[in-house]
Amino acid sequence: MGSASDRAWLGLRLLSLQAAAGAAIGALTGWSVWGTGRCAEIWAAARWQAWLHAGLLSVLGTPATVMLARLLWSGGKMSRLRFQPLGIALSAVVLSAGLLLAVWLSMKSVRRARAATRRRAHQLVWICLVAAFALGKLNQWVLPNLYDYLHGALSLASYASYALAGLVLALRAWDAEPQAERALRLSGAPILVVALCCGFASLRTLDQNQNVRVALLSANMPCSRSLLLGAAELLPRVETRSVDTATQRAAAARARRARVAQDPSLPQLPDAHVLLITIDALRADHLSSYGYGRALSKEIDALAEEGQLFERAYAQAPHSSYSLCSLFSSEYLHETTELGASPPEPTLPRALAEDGYHSAAFYTQGIFHTAAERLSIYEQDAFGFALHDHQDRPPEQMTDRVLEEIDRTVQRGEPSALFWVHYFNVHEPYRATTFGTSDVDRYDSEILAADAAIGRLVRGARGRLKKPLVVVITADHGEEFHEHGGVYHGSSLYQEQVHIPLIMVVPSLAPRRYTQPVESIDIAPTLLGLLGVDRPASMRGADLRAYLVHSERDRGPVFSAVIHKKMVVSWPHKLIADLRFGSYELYDLSKDPGERQNNADRDSGRVRELRAEIYAWLDALSSTRIAGNQNAQALEWGRLGDRRAVQPLQNLLLDTEAAASSRSEAARLLGKLADDGAAETLLEATRTSHDWVAAEAAIALGRMFDERARPALRRLVASEDPGIRSRAAVSLARLRDKSALPALTDALWLAPNPYEREEAVRWLGRLGDANALDPLLNLLPETHTRHLVVLALGELGDARAFEPLVQTLGWDHNTNVRDGVVRALATLGDPRALGVLLPLVEDDSALRNTGEALVRLNALGRGLLGGSDIDRRAAQLGSGLTACHQGPLRHDWDFQQRTYCKTSQKHVHWNVEVPRAVYEAPDGNSLLISLRRADAPSAISVELHLGQHAFTVEVDGAWKEQRFTLPPHSLPKGQIQAELVIEQSGARIELDHVLIVPLQHAASLAVQQGG
Ligand SMILES: [Zn+2]
Repeated sequence: MGSASDRAWLGLRLLSLQAAAGAAIGALTGWSVWGTGRCAEIWAAARWQAWLHAGLLSVLGTPATVMLARLLWSGGKMSRLRFQPLGIALSAVVLSAGLLLAVWLSMKSVRRARAATRRRAHQLVWICLVAAFALGKLNQWVLPNLYDYLHGALSLASYASYALAGLVLALRAWDAEPQAERALRLSGAPILVVALCCGFASLRTLDQNQNVRVALLSANMPCSRSLLLGAAELLPRVETRSVDTATQRAAAARARRARVAQDPSLPQLPDAHVLLITIDALRADHLSSYGYGRALSKEIDALAEEGQLFERAYAQAPHSSYSLCSLFSSEYLHETTELGASPPEPTLPRALAEDGYHSAAFYTQGIFHTAAERLSIYEQDAFGFALHDHQDRPPEQMTDRVLEEIDRTVQRGEPSALFWVHYFNVHEPYRATTFGTSDVDRYDSEILAADAAIGRLVRGARGRLKKPLVVVITADHGEEFHEHGGVYHGSSLYQEQVHIPLIMVVPSLAPRRYTQPVESIDIAPTLLGLLGVDRPASMRGADLRAYLVHSERDRGPVFSAVIHKKMVVSWPHKLIADLRFGSYELYDLSKDPGERQNNADRDSGRVRELRAEIYAWLDALSSTRIAGNQNAQALEWGRLGDRRAVQPLQNLLLDTEAAASSRSEAARLLGKLADDGAAETLLEATRTSHDWVAAEAAIALGRMFDERARPALRRLVASEDPGIRSRAAVSLARLRDKSALPALTDALWLAPNPYEREEAVRWLGRLGDANALDPLLNLLPETHTRHLVVLALGELGDARAFEPLVQTLGWDHNTNVRDGVVRALATLGDPRALGVLLPLVEDDSALRNTGEALVRLNALGRGLLGGSDIDRRAAQLGSGLTACHQGPLRHDWDFQQRTYCKTSQKHVHWNVEVPRAVYEAPDGNSLLISLRRADAPSAISVELHLGQHAFTVEVDGAWKEQRFTLPPHSLPKGQIQAELVIEQSGARIELDHVLIVPLQHAASLAVQQGG
């Protein structure tokens, strides 16, 4: 940090700022406590006056309590609660009451202090001073760098304790010598003024010394958080930007990346498997292959020896959530979500699924700890992984689980697959103690455990899979052990938190090490390039294959971010910029890898250059550099799904001066935003003279399920333009209008883009017209839409789809498709589906929805009551599944098939759990019983007792299904007894099923019985 005089100067300026803050806060506290003391004095005379003063002091504190109450309710989850305003009001009232109580307590204690002996008063002063010091230290040591408001509150409490000590002393002096009050005022006021002037002067010249700025704002000092919160507005503004060169460079880099993707000379491994291994919180420099002294990682190091090691890889953020979501979407989500854009849908597993890949992921949902709302599309959909298992397991068990899935994939004919496994044990709390008990020892011990499990996983995968296997090992972020005053991660952009390992073992490529900085978002495009799969346009990362081949090529700067700090690394320089306050740290990583010496003041040219890179990067992400052009901005907002666009888009739509292309896009975006407030404007636009705009307006209106669009849409489905025709057909289908059918069928093949084709498939299913069956079956051979076609076949509800669906299960190994077939079979509700689904439960339990589908069959009342143990198995398959039948049948039933039983007993009892759908069925239920006599053709009678009900069936040697009606609410919730009483003892009875079906579903079941 430079010479001794530099340090002294830095210390002096920081001290003056601290003193100013202390003086200001102290004066406020002192004044309020003094006021309290006055109240106490008055109290002795007239109590009502005292309460008046106390009340006044509390009222003065109201803005603070209201602000605090709002802060308490400002979190992502809290702010979505419906009773948030009520919560804020209640919190403000409680806080105000607390303030009043505090004032009252102060009054009491100040009175006591003044009445107390000299010794007691001195004790009080010492207690205050010790408390103030302890609070300051607490502020410095407890969770450094995390939780702004905790540190703000601790700073304030510390200042207040100092002020209280001073005040008690002053009051004592005053009591002894009444003139002391004047002396106090005379001496206190100048001190306050001088401190404030010095502090203000230091603030004004702050941009002349970056170290002061960084120290002041990075909160490793006990009281800087309070300064940061209070003084932010006073800080000098940052200089204006100069970004043109950086913007040009960024554009050139993008163009180069686009060219790279086309280059046929780059390595390719079509159809290879990918095993992506991420280790939570693994910093690069704790692996021997990255220079660590302790031997922890012999397995990972061995893989690094045979693969491609990137020495300088950076995580997009020091949090799991942003980092891993960025990895899979190849987008700078920390910035783009802040700018209001929704996270892009295409992800690595989705892009691979388009190409027929199977994908399976094993990770804990804990990775979504930060910013879960913004990234919810990935949390809900598991990034588009076909199979996802969120159980957090110790490393060895995690390896077992993944190998199990690999085995299953091999059994299914080894479709190409992406496996992602996230080892979580290296994340704190570190439990293992192989190397000792200090934090670092335990952290290293966890790495050792993960390393062994990873070695076994890679060997196991290689031994099982026949196709080539690409292995990628990386981390979501690093971990800090007080290097820059903090712990864990998620708080800074220093190397220990953002420098991660990245190792790729690509069969066919000779081992090498690369020194170009790279980032997490490069991983997905590189893998897609390697596998020869189309890269989605939204992916921003670089295809690193170009650097694998020509390693001297410049990857361009890499970025990372946390809260309002941004980092850029353009080797060997690294700039950390706090854009809100304009504080900069510049490090030369080649000479100063520990980031000890901030060169921002010495090399301001470099700061400007790198800062321009950051601005160019942010500008490229926001793409809204169209200030002043309201229409362009409205369209931009609309594309991002921002509701602010609704009004300006309506203005644009009706603006006859604007370009027709903009107006029709405005109509489309309004349809997408589906805001009811825009319906009238859209209706008006359907009558506009411009055909194209009118058509888009009608389509948008139909998209919002508005009946008034029907006549226009009926005309538009005959349009010549294939785009208008297919989109109009989808809108018309939304209105459940069967005249959409021919255009919708054409759109399956002719719609201009894949999204419109997919929409056509979905709505053909939902329209529920039997004529859609053949077109959908014809589309079944198409890989890209198959997962949607099978779902649509299910929704269509035509029993003829049963066979083709079952056949698909025989030859398609794509998990999404299999999953869709299972759902479709469940929706069709054909009892034969049980025979198809049960073996799947047995052999293909990886299927996401098999359990759900079985339960759905039961919930619809199609479940076997007393048939088999499917429910138990269904329950094993997933959480939240409800079983409607528990316990096996009595031993006197011998099972020949799962859904089928025989008996020769006279009485047979079993318990039946009545499912919700049954006991709540509004029209009552239909009871179906199917049985026959197996030992003789002559008829006997069989009685079925079900709770309070009894039914008699005459059975002979032929199969017979008998139906009975159960009135609404005639079956209780919970378990009931069922009993079969057979007239003639010794007669053998075969029972196929006993079904209870809510009447509203019984009709559909009857159709299938005939089929
Ligand atoms: Zn993490």
